[in-house]
This record gives sequence, C-alpha cells and structure tokens, in this order.
Amino acid sequence: MKNLSERDQVHVWHPLTQHKLHPRMLAVVKAKGALLFDEDGKEYVDGISSWYTSVYGHCNDFILEKVYAQMQRLDQVVFSGFTHEPAVRLSEELMKILPENQSKLFFSDNGSTAVEVGIKMALQFHFNQGEQRKVLLAFEEGFHGDTFGAMSVSGLSVYNGPFEEFFLDVERIPVPSPDNIETTLAHLENRLQQNDIAGFVYEPLVQGAAAMQMHDAEGLNRILKLLKAHAVVTIADEVMTGFGKTGKYFSSDHIETKPDVICLSKALTAGLLPMAITTCSQHIYDAFYSDDIGKGLFHAHTYTANPLACAAALAGLELLQSGAMQNNIARIQASHQKFDLEISTHPKVARTRQCGVIYALDLDVQMERYGNLRDKLFNHFMGEGVFLRPLGNTIYILAPYITTDEQLQKIYGAIQSAVDIV
Ligand SMILES: *Cc1c(COP(=O)(O)O)cnc(C)c1O
Repeated sequence: MKNLSERDQVHVWHPLTQHKLHPRMLAVVKAKGALLFDEDGKEYVDGISSWYTSVYGHCNDFILEKVYAQMQRLDQVVFSGFTHEPAVRLSEELMKILPENQSKLFFSDNGSTAVEVGIKMALQFHFNQGEQRKVLLAFEEGFHGDTFGAMSVSGLSVYNGPFEEFFLDVERIPVPSPDNIETTLAHLENRLQQNDIAGFVYEPLVQGAAAMQMHDAEGLNRILKLLKAHAVVTIADEVMTGFGKTGKYFSSDHIETKPDVICLSKALTAGLLPMAITTCSQHIYDAFYSDDIGKGLFHAHTYTANPLACAAALAGLELLQSGAMQNNIARIQASHQKFDLEISTHPKVARTRQCGVIYALDLDVQMERYGNLRDKLFNHFMGEGVFLRPLGNTIYILAPYITTDEQLQKIYGAIQSAVDIV
C-alpha cells in the first residue's frame, strides 16, 4: 500500500513547484492549535500560520462550532440578487474595525481576486467619469497574487517570464526610505502631470513575499498624500498584513493617510475557508452608482460571500477583538523582541527586523530564492519539528497568536541551530 505522499505523485500538480526537482510532498493528516501532524505522526510547530491564515490556531473549536451551526442553516446561495445574515453581519462587524473612511465591501474568494477587484475599481472609477487613466503604480518587489492583474502589479517577477508581454501597464517606485523619499516624491510630482495614473497598489509597511521587507510609515504617508491629491486611487493590499499581524488590526492603522481601497483575505477567514473582501470608501462607490447599468461593477465569483466562509470570518473577528487574543499578540511581540537581543549579534546574522508579530532575519550568506542552501535550511527546520519557509537568505516567523511560549522557544531553538550550521 502506498502512503499519501506516494499516491500524491500520481495525479497531483502542486503550486510553486518544479516537480522534477521536488517530487515529494509532506502529507499532513491533522492540525490543532499551532501544530501540524504528518502521516508518520511527527509534529511541527506551524511557524508561518500556514501562509499567514491560521492566526487563531488550527481547528479552533470556537470557530468550528460557529461554522458548523451556519452549515446547518444555510450553506450557499447566489450573492447577486440575494443576501444573507452572515454576509450582512460581517459587513457591519468589519466596518467597526476598518479605517474610518471605508464604507462599502465587495466579496470575492482569494487574495489575488481581492486585488483584481481593487484594480478594476481603480480603472473603472476613472472610466466612469470619462477620464483616460490606464497606468497603474506599484512598489518594486511587491507581491499581489498570481492572476493577471495581480501579477502585473507584482514586482517579484522571477518566474513571470512567459506572461510578461500580456501584463497591464504598470510603473514602479521604490519603497520609501529616508534616503530616497525626496527623489521619489519629485519624480511623482512630475509624472502625475500627465494625469494617466489610475491607481497605486501597495503592501503597507511589510512586503510579505519580498521576504518581509519593512518600510517607513512616514515616507509611505507622504506618497499616499501626494497620490490622493491627484485623484490616484490608493489600494492597500492587506491580504498578508491584516487582522493583527502588525500589532494593530490593519497595517493602514499605522499610517495617517488612509487608502481608498483595502484588499483582505488570508487571516480574514481564520485559515478555515477561502474568501476575500475588497473594501472601499464612499467616493469610490459613488462613481459606480448610476442610472446607467454599465457603470456598475460587473465582476463575480461563484462562491462570492459563501455563508460558511462569512461565519468563519465573524468568529475570527470576535476572537481577534478579545482581550485574550490581544494579550497573545502583545506576548508574541515581546517574546520576539527578547529573541532578537540574543540572535541579532550572531556573526552569521546580517540584519533583523520586526513589525508586530512578524519577525525576520537575514543571514549573511548569498542564497537563491529556491536554491540548495534554502532547501537545506528548510529541511533542518522540519527535522527540528518547526515549519518555517525561508525566502532566499531570510528566515521569518509569523506564528499563530496562540503559539505557546514553549512552542516559541522551539522555533527560536531551531533558528539558533540553523544559524550555527550555515
Ligand atoms: C498571498 C497574498 C496575495 C495573494 O493571495 P492568494 O489568496 O494567494 O491569491 C496577495 N497579496 C498579498 C500581500 C499576499 O500576501
């Protein structure tokens, strides 16, 4: 009898995988709290919350019960022409914690589509007003997803070769730093005179796929202010940063100038079901509100606002706002700060950084994003019972908020021993 890993190799094609080089997938059979269990019974601390989703812990009983209760009432219904309690309540609850200028929300089903919707909102916002704005602005090294619009605005394009000639028209600026901000603002002042930039897509403060690169809130604030003064629709991609990871509910809460549009997914549904939301301010919505049917936003996905996913999101929001979860977030932030004091002086560590519960360190070695040394590090962590996914020479932690102190120590121990062997 073949095991799961072997059966997998017969028909399954995995994401981000060159199967000839990496034929074997690890079969995970269950998960609880911060732990994953493989088919041989080995356990791993999920140091990246399964791609930043399961922040309240895997198979969280509170969330499971809420979803199960919803499942017995209403499973799925078309969301065009129909509505339901979980979606309406989610809109009410989410608006309470989103930046104040947000007013409407549009459902879809993953982070990339949340960004696609944001891009369409920006392009059609101008189109509906009879303006020709066809260019999008984005940060170098940003990541916004794998559908065409999202890929176009993503700057991390190492593997986008076959598709690049089909991309949208996108121009890039560097993330702000005290060294470049004046140059960037001067360039933008000049560039904006052409009145052809429709929207600006950005990951506020932390760029996840760019190996948790962090930038300066003040610089970003100045860029946003300038763009808004020229009616450029600002689109914050908070798919990774949303729901407490930066220490506040949203990364945009750290920045004075609020975005026109916010993209949410990943932790939105607490790691249980796929869903996404693109929110916007009233003035964006107003540009679509018309007697002319063609001015509406004609975009839909079949599972839009699935009631079960909405129930998971509502349960997640309740947990996020609880005193216990806020204490957990503060506890993890403080714990990472202590670990940083120990590790940042190691001769093999070039640089460390932290924002909320997101902690990253760069090793002082040259490494390819998907090369051998990266695989060696990954295998070392898995051997130690810790799931961390190094990005190039960056090791980062984004563990569930409910990770225990003991489990955090296990993660730190694995990083310490990894740094010693490189
Ligand atoms: C993961 C991610 C996306 C894409 O989300 P998917 O659900 O994987 O399509 C977009 N933007 C950011 C910042 C992300 O981290």
